[in-house]
Amino acid sequence: MRILVTGGAGFIGSHLIDRLMEEGHEVLCLDNFYTGHKRNILKWLDKPYFELIRHDITEPIRLEVDRIYHLACPASPVHYQYNPVKTIKTNVMGTLNMLGLAKRVKARILLASTSEVYGDPEVHPQPEEYRGNVNPIGIRSCYDEGKRVAETLAFDYHRQNGVDIRVARIFNTYGSRMLFNDGRVVSNFAVQALRGHPLTVYGDGSQTRSFCYVSDLVEGLIRLMNGDYIGPVNLGNPGEYTILELAQKIQQMVNPDNEIAFKPLPQDDPKQRQPDITKAKTILGWEPTIPLDEGLKLLIDDFRSRLNSGESSN
Ligand code: NAD
Ligand code: UDP
Ligand code: UDP
Repeated sequence: MRILVTGGAGFIGSHLIDRLMEEGHEVLCLDNFYTGHKRNILKWLDKPYFELIRHDITEPIRLEVDRIYHLACPASPVHYQYNPVKTIKTNVMGTLNMLGLAKRVKARILLASTSEVYGDPEVHPQPEEYRGNVNPIGIRSCYDEGKRVAETLAFDYHRQNGVDIRVARIFNTYGSRMLFNDGRVVSNFAVQALRGHPLTVYGDGSQTRSFCYVSDLVEGLIRLMNGDYIGPVNLGNPGEYTILELAQKIQQMVNPDNEIAFKPLPQDDPKQRQPDITKAKTILGWEPTIPLDEGLKLLIDDFRSRLNSGESSN
């Protein structure tokens, strides 16, 4: 199959491309390299069934493909808040263009949505039926409202034009290849610990997140794409930890002498988050296999070797 991966040079996209190339597909990677990097897809660049397209999805593009994994969008608050208008354009105009493309060539399209559609959730854990608690005018809105509109667009293209959609709601995912300056919590703590800097816990660290290792997530995306159920489906690891617990774990694994420094909690930071993955389990036969301790070890080993090889922070 000929498969387009938008955001393919990014963290999750590049791991997905590894799987798709290994399965023998023809892969088109589309990226504007905002948070993505050629380094992530370097091993495929000289392969005849791989094509790299430098393009910004807020502009239309005509391609002929069978499937689209639509992942293009910065995912870390630091990066999506840097240019919030661009972030919402990417979510709205970019997703519109990808749905228009899917409609024209009759491709199946999977939208990488997010647990952020639940906002600061008042229902815990979060099932897909929960409609969320989102601030429409806050600093996270460009991302979470953007993804909510992206979901709306997907379902309206499905109802109105018969576009074959899949919608994944991805919960916090971490793993090798994350940028040192990504800004999300797991990569921040790992880089800080390895550099001997204090681990920056925002607030008192009592807020929770549930962390899924990237290879598990990629397996879930592929199962969703290949199955009949359109979603939305939560994909995440139900293991829930406070941010302070996470800091202490990484501190213990890298250097117990590292300090923890408490910093102000950003505005609208969700207090708790844990996926209800009943649907993914029963419909896709999917559940995560890599516990946090094991995944953290993989990430720390990757970061250590990249730091030792002198890779720069972007
Ligand atoms: P990432 O920032 O590493 O990857 C995003 C990729 O999209 C980058 O390669 C970036 O250059 C590219 N991109 C951004 N804007 C673009 C544009 N306008 N045109 C073309 N390319 C563009 O992030 P990630 O963690 O790999 O996330 C991938 C997708 O998964 C995103 O849509 C994100 O919202 C979603 N998601 C991720 C998580 C997570 O925890 N990692 C959680 C929920 C949802
Ligand atoms: N689009 C695209 N590539 C295609 C087909 C459409 O980028 O192969 C864009 C198109 O330019 C438009 C969007 O997708 O901005 C929505 O397309 P659709 O056909 O649904 O709407 P229309 O073009 O009729 O407004
Ligand atoms: N966080 C933190 N220190 C950091 C980065 C993040 O304590 O250096 C916190 C952040 O305030 C949030 C949680 O960790 O409560 C997860 O943040 P991240 O940016 O990884 O993801 P999101 O908030 O989008 O789930």
